[in-house]
Amino acid sequence: MNAVNLLEFDLDGLTAFCEQLGEKRFRATQLFHWIHQKGASDFTLMSDLAKSLRDKLAGTATISALTVASEQASSDGTIKWLFDVGGGNAVETVFIPEDDRGTLCVSSQAGCAVGCRFCSTGHQGFSRNLSTGEIVAQLWFAEHHLRQRLRLAAGERAITNVVMMGMGEPLQNYAALVPSLRVMLDDHGYGLSRRRVTVSTSGVLPMIDRLRDDCPVALAVSLHAPNDTLRDDLVPLNRKYRIDELLAACQRYLDKAPRDFITFEYCMLDGVNDTPEHALQLVELVRDSIACKLNLIPFNPFPESGLKRSPRDRVTAFARILQDAGIVTTIRKTRGDDIDAACGQLAGEVQDRTRARERLSARAPIRIHRPGAAGGAGPKKQETKA
Ligand code: SAH
Ligand code: SF4
Repeated sequence: MNAVNLLEFDLDGLTAFCEQLGEKRFRATQLFHWIHQKGASDFTLMSDLAKSLRDKLAGTATISALTVASEQASSDGTIKWLFDVGGGNAVETVFIPEDDRGTLCVSSQAGCAVGCRFCSTGHQGFSRNLSTGEIVAQLWFAEHHLRQRLRLAAGERAITNVVMMGMGEPLQNYAALVPSLRVMLDDHGYGLSRRRVTVSTSGVLPMIDRLRDDCPVALAVSLHAPNDTLRDDLVPLNRKYRIDELLAACQRYLDKAPRDFITFEYCMLDGVNDTPEHALQLVELVRDSIACKLNLIPFNPFPESGLKRSPRDRVTAFARILQDAGIVTTIRKTRGDDIDAACGQLAGEVQDRTRARERLSARAPIRIHRPGAAGGAGPKKQETKA
């Protein structure tokens, strides 16, 4: 019989497992503490567990970390790990330290099936979902590794925030995602507040509703376009779930959300979605329909995308239009770009089972709007493919 990896369980799951071993429920809580609060992986060191239980565990269970394939540290303190998840796949996890917090950007899938045009994970295609244990292992490793590396005092936490913004679409891996969120939130686990755990989604609408009911945490929605025509092209999932339906789901989410707004992410692509007209459309779209904050992300380029980052002055002009309309808008700082750890640069390694590269390169080239060209709004020009 294969040993069970205890990182696969939230506290309820671990309790059921302990009961199968004939153990009382509180033993599961003790064990959960050892694993997640102390970072233990060796049952023999769990001194307050009976020897008989430790022996049983040694025969049936493991606490298995992921294999670190590489680590890169940025000059700004950002650290990126590449974890080997077997079968030729590797996923990335990024730690982003700030003065008042430590954020871990966690992957949910090897690759991604959504295939957004501006995302390097999307260009890689999809290989497989990560299990709960593989999602949790990213946090487990990072927290306990960083406590030592940063020489934190007893009781101090390295990671105060988790964002599901690494590789993959978390809401297309819902069954594994929810128990992993519960481990993050559990007071016996990492004890993170719901406001400090963010699920970012390209808009898997039915799962937004389910998340609201099952495990509401902060929600970020990758919008990237103010109309369906443009969003269809940038985020192909939009052809299934339209913007108005997506906003309605966001509105329903707010009923139970830990924050009273939804964050919309908007990746600024030169000449594609960054003109004043787009900003005004965005204002029209969200101003009276939903409590939200806009987070503008400077595009992090990668060669196959054929896209460019919007110039800084265009991003600030775009932000000003939103702000003048009363919409709270921030421009995301780019962190770790010297180690390709910024948003959308996480590529890991993926055995593509979806042939996304071929699909994406076969798609019609995106229509680029060149601001400042003759004729006001400017002539439309076809972008050449990379
Ligand atoms: N699949 C989820 C979460 C992972 S992507 C989602 O799409 O929301 C996390 C964020 O990075 C998303 O907002 C995504 O749109 C953004 N992103 C992807 N590629 C990017 C790039 N090349 N530059 C900047 N942001 C990017
Ligand atoms: Fe997938 Fe998100 Fe990248 Fe789109 S942006 S391809 S949903 S990881």
